Amino acid sequence: MASLFAMDIQMLKGVGEKRAALFRKVGAPTVGELLRLYPRTYEDWSSPVAIGEAPLNEISVIRATVLARPRQQYIRKGMTLYKTEVTDGVRDMTLTYFNNPYVQSMLQEGKEYLFRGKMQGNLTRREMTAPDFSPADGSAPIVPVYPQTEGLSSRQIGNAMKAAFQLLPELLRDPLPDEMRQRLELCQLRFAMENIHFPGSMELLEIARRRLVFEELLVLQLGLLSLKSRTRVENHLRLTQDVSEEFYRLLPFTPTNAQKRAIAEALTDMQGEAPMSRLIQGDVGSGKTAVAAALCYCVIREGMQAALMAPTEVLARQHAKTLSAMLEPAGIRTALLVGSMTAKQKRTVTQELASGEIQLIIGTHALLTEGVVFQKLALVVTDEQHRFGVAQRAALAQKGENPHLLVMSATPIPRTLALMIFGDLDISILDELPPGRQKIETFAITSDKRERAFGYVKKHLDRGLQGYMICPLIEEGQSDMASVTQYRDMLEEGAFSGYRIGILHGRMKPREKDAVMAQFSSGELDLLVSTTVVEVGVDVPNAVIIVIENAERYGLSQLHQLRGRVGRGHEKSTCILISDAQNEEAVTRLRVMCSTSDGFRIADEDLKLRGPGDFFGSRQHGLPQLSIADMAQDITLLKLAQEEARHLLHEDPDLEQPEHRGLRAETRRLFEKVGDGAFT
Ligand code: ADP
Ligand code: MG
Repeated sequence: MASLFAMDIQMLKGVGEKRAALFRKVGAPTVGELLRLYPRTYEDWSSPVAIGEAPLNEISVIRATVLARPRQQYIRKGMTLYKTEVTDGVRDMTLTYFNNPYVQSMLQEGKEYLFRGKMQGNLTRREMTAPDFSPADGSAPIVPVYPQTEGLSSRQIGNAMKAAFQLLPELLRDPLPDEMRQRLELCQLRFAMENIHFPGSMELLEIARRRLVFEELLVLQLGLLSLKSRTRVENHLRLTQDVSEEFYRLLPFTPTNAQKRAIAEALTDMQGEAPMSRLIQGDVGSGKTAVAAALCYCVIREGMQAALMAPTEVLARQHAKTLSAMLEPAGIRTALLVGSMTAKQKRTVTQELASGEIQLIIGTHALLTEGVVFQKLALVVTDEQHRFGVAQRAALAQKGENPHLLVMSATPIPRTLALMIFGDLDISILDELPPGRQKIETFAITSDKRERAFGYVKKHLDRGLQGYMICPLIEEGQSDMASVTQYRDMLEEGAFSGYRIGILHGRMKPREKDAVMAQFSSGELDLLVSTTVVEVGVDVPNAVIIVIENAERYGLSQLHQLRGRVGRGHEKSTCILISDAQNEEAVTRLRVMCSTSDGFRIADEDLKLRGPGDFFGSRQHGLPQLSIADMAQDITLLKLAQEEARHLLHEDPDLEQPEHRGLRAETRRLFEKVGDGAFT
């Protein structure tokens, strides 16, 4: 069996070298992957309607008999029409095909066919142009539509699928344990595979889909839960006291109630039976950093170490600055570890980390390097989690012995869904912004008002305040460096001559980026022109205005993140979205941005607009790519899968029992592409 699944797609009948390349392109290099290339949608041919009942201008399926062999009409050079009449016994309909001589031989007089196409005509006449057809013998009532690509049609994929099924044994080994399958009334694997690809009816399709979705979600939950499987380890890094009040005295501000609550929740975890696994969900600017700092402080006060990992160097350096300013006065040693440091600098840091002199380390992925060893790592914090994969988080945790884990989200995710996806994490919500924050005024304008907007920006700069400009994409395929520099030149020569403008783009070395950020935050620059590099986390409270060019290019969460760069101090802040886009979705997005600054509401809207597929893509959350389940639509099955996964792991933590081995193999397979060997 295993060998069949691993078999090269080219071994299938009808798949040659060229076509194999196309199959690889759609994600099916092997027979196994082909079988999991599920249809995007289906054409339902199973319930034909009468010609007179088909609504005009909509797709319908008609069962009708061909009245005469299609006749040929020569229109002009290169254009031949084929016309025929069909009847359902009550009404007739005219069919027209262009340049398709085959219909003459394929549509036989007196025979019955199913025709699928858009019904057109008027009260007295009915017609279809180039409808698909198949003999009305009931052979293929529901036709799968695969994600095709140039040169490889859905029909060709369907044919390869048929060839693959001929090789499949009658009984497939089913990863779902029999007992579970029967108890939950799920169909067998072979049956599910057949009916997902070649459904006998819509009902059978639903039965097949239910089973496959459940299996995929179960495997996902098993993977997520066993990545941690922390509920069964003991908390031997237990905190014995609560010194948060001491920490609060170090802060330049009074913590919000939400911050205090989150800190208390986390401390309760860390004093408990099992290591903490907690997600902090907070809107942009809600003060997550201070929460992390408090927990680091408490851990360090008990003689242990903490680590904070950020997705970019700019962010790591910013955190290092903030945290050292907060904690060093209390005698705590902090240090930075990022890729761009010299080998010597890194060596010093790793040595002092291993000896325990450094109590808090702040860094990027560099923290995951092999040479990084801790004396006693008790707390791992990851900031802006959707930039990290689940496996990366786990990798850092492996540097200690089941350390406490705190994950800080960049932007909110709808709560119900967060509960599902991070089922293994407890959640604290920062639902309160620090006092004195004013609503960020947001305007959407068209590009002809740009000059006026620039004038408005200048008024702010003239008062000693600062601003961000997110530059436009000038041409398709242009590097962000080119667009940033061109835009900067345009500003310097035009509206903003005489102002101090800095740039930030993806091609810059971390050290260069950092130097620019340092200049900006110390007020040596008035304006920072950037791509979305500044998107995540950057905190310069004196920056109060942000202009986003081509705002239609960004998703809601990203716009919200970008806007969150301002409104971090006491000054009233402004966000100006420039866009000439007309399409409805883009306009809706901009309207949402102007009407609310509540990150949780924006997350809900984002989910609605983008659909869950995008929202939960692996890019966003480091979760594996799902091939059939839909996290938002299949929420009931997700809950069920979560319960079953918990139960299973409770009984058999390593899935070692013979009836669980199939699931274990599937879990490995699903996470293979995400991870760094967390399962091997
Ligand atoms: P985020 O949740 O987006 O990571 P930060 O932790 O960067 O937010 O905090 C945003 C800004 O708010 C920082 O400048 C920080 O110093 C400030 N801040 C955080 N908590 C408070 C508070 N309780 N009162 C006043 N300012 C605060
Ligand atoms: Mg932050």
